[in-house]
Amino acid sequence: MSDTVSRRRFLGTVAASGAGAAAAAQARAAPARPPGKHGRGERVQRVATYCEMCFWRCGVVAEVDADGRVLRLEGNPDHPLTQGRLCARGNAGTSLLYDPDRLKYPMLRTGKRGEGQFKRISWDEALDVLAGKLKAIKEQHGPEAVAFFPHGVSARFMGTLLKAYGTPNSAEPSFAQCRGPRDVGYNLTFGRALGSPEPIDLEDAKLVVLIGSHLGENVFTSQITQFATGLSRGAKLVAVDPRFSTAASKADWWLPIKPGTDIALLLAWTNVLITEGLYDKAYVEEHAHGFKELAAHVAPFTPEWASPITALPAEQIRETARAMGAAKPSVVVHPGRHVTWYGDDTQRARAMAILVALLGSYGRKGGYFLPTPVPRGEFELPDFPDSGKGRADGAGERYPLASEEMGVTNGLVEATVTARPYPIKAWIVYAQNVLESIPQQQSTLKAIEQLDFLCVVDVMPVDQIAYADLVLPEATYLERYDAPLVVNSVKTPFVSLRQPVIEPLYESKPGWWIAKELAKRMGLEAYFPWATPEEHLAKFVEPMGINLLELRNKGAVAFPGRPFLEDRTEDDLPHFYTDSGKIELYSQALKDLGADPMPAFTPPEEPPAGFFRLVYGRAPMHSFARTQNNDQLHGLMAENDVWLHTKPAQTLGLRDGDRVVLENQDGVKSLPIRVRVTEGIRDDCAYMVHGFGQRSRLLRRARDRGASDTHLMTRVKVDPLMGGTGMRINFVRPVKEA
Ligand code: SF4
Repeated sequence: MSDTVSRRRFLGTVAASGAGAAAAAQARAAPARPPGKHGRGERVQRVATYCEMCFWRCGVVAEVDADGRVLRLEGNPDHPLTQGRLCARGNAGTSLLYDPDRLKYPMLRTGKRGEGQFKRISWDEALDVLAGKLKAIKEQHGPEAVAFFPHGVSARFMGTLLKAYGTPNSAEPSFAQCRGPRDVGYNLTFGRALGSPEPIDLEDAKLVVLIGSHLGENVFTSQITQFATGLSRGAKLVAVDPRFSTAASKADWWLPIKPGTDIALLLAWTNVLITEGLYDKAYVEEHAHGFKELAAHVAPFTPEWASPITALPAEQIRETARAMGAAKPSVVVHPGRHVTWYGDDTQRARAMAILVALLGSYGRKGGYFLPTPVPRGEFELPDFPDSGKGRADGAGERYPLASEEMGVTNGLVEATVTARPYPIKAWIVYAQNVLESIPQQQSTLKAIEQLDFLCVVDVMPVDQIAYADLVLPEATYLERYDAPLVVNSVKTPFVSLRQPVIEPLYESKPGWWIAKELAKRMGLEAYFPWATPEEHLAKFVEPMGINLLELRNKGAVAFPGRPFLEDRTEDDLPHFYTDSGKIELYSQALKDLGADPMPAFTPPEEPPAGFFRLVYGRAPMHSFARTQNNDQLHGLMAENDVWLHTKPAQTLGLRDGDRVVLENQDGVKSLPIRVRVTEGIRDDCAYMVHGFGQRSRLLRRARDRGASDTHLMTRVKVDPLMGGTGMRINFVRPVKEA
């Protein structure tokens, strides 16, 4: 706690003042300046909120000085999930707040698209421009001609506005470029998508299976802590990865699988569990449907069948399946997160979900948590209008199992390029870097060229800013309220609060304010029937029976959880929301769609001679393409490397540290990237961390540093069930710089 203010007294102050309003008032007059040293005798306030340096949303406490400067961030010890932990990115939130490259005021394009020439305008003018454009497009083409690309909680208010305006076209990359297939596959099997955070009991697992999940390099504080706790308590670890990841280095079994053959491995594991009677018979009998069909389906898929496909020894496949059988039901088969790989990803997720079911892990200690219902209050809103034209992205039709709530980004890009099923004339891109999050950049750029209007709302001048007609600077997560967050698929459910720790710097504005102001100009105020975000918050928590003051002070409040089948009450029934009310090992829903009712293996395309399969992942100090300009994180990792195996590197005359350009199968080239020569990767793969190689000239640190994997993804294989873009079908070869 501060030198001068006790924690108890401070919390009282925060509560009484509306979560740091005093600090906020001081900040209003304070010029933007970097965090200074905490001077002796300065008054300090501590305000709890939650982090947005990635999507995990850890509890954070900001220490604010008497001048309204955020001195430092630390983990919130009162947060039920993250319990005082912040990762490097969470700690570096101050460097986002005080980044000199931040978007500071609304801007209108003056030059040609792509030149990045703008003039500064007022908020009144900016909102009039946007409202006027939306009105004109609605009159000429209908509201569905506007597409929305949101990301993160702050975009939800704009989402409400655009639904009220009448467009059904909204899509975020977290579905079609990330976890969509996983959620669809688990939903088909258990009747419920997994959501975020992953509902897995890593602490009490006796065995953890990671398939293409490099936990430890993708860092989420609570998950990584629980993973470490589980391992320290003796959990065994199976790491399936063509690369010797950090997790693989801790594993009891590292399976350096041939990329694209995971379904074959999963089928072989299933075969062993069934043929050797190692599955949870009582659980399957009570809860599952279609076991007989599954047993017949997997009968031919022995470890000997899978061995030449996966390049793994049959004995290792058998041994790891037996280890799972011995540890059941306390086995976490991690469902992964970014799982859009080969276009058959929903079926791979199904194969994983079926394995989970056979092990009896779903709803069991050391396996998967079930969600505990938490009531939340909502304002009654008028019905959202229906344009009658349907969606343009194919969700629910061309991609029958795509989430209509999350949409299909690439479907919207395609609709914009082709003007089918109808023309899309404007995009509003909100906290999303569409040039880095959606593959096939050439299509995205073509779509942008065809737009009448592109509005970008963001904190930082990300790549597509150069193409924007209107740029709106959003306040950072440390300067705004967002809708509160309920997390209920965890052992201890909770609600957490995002509240401003200082007033917005420069002329940036919170998302709720932008949406409400637009609503006023567009006659849509009825969809925002609250005067202040505090009123919105009070309504939200009303049925939770919690003390609002406590939530403001602590930042999060926990509720009793019922995460396991044995804890469930009548209120929680049914356990499984499938058509049969049971776990569907055999999926009639898939059969009815003409798809495989049980997963089948299809061999992936092989790399052309001289090329390596491009695989990619995360580093602990960066989130997507959003943190590379952050001075603290840039200091930890300024650019990415491309990993190549020692043997092909030698053949190509490449040494560790050499710079190469990567050229893909279509002749597209990357920016120069450093080579990392290592034994820790299969000799047919090239690996790089995602998010580098950004081109925005306004990102002075991140610009032209490292190479962009997305830029090299000129091909995708689309999952026919949910529209996700399989991206691991691109190949690269290193070309040495002259
Ligand atoms: S994992 Fe790190 S970046 Fe993500 S929310 Fe937590 S502290 Fe923030």
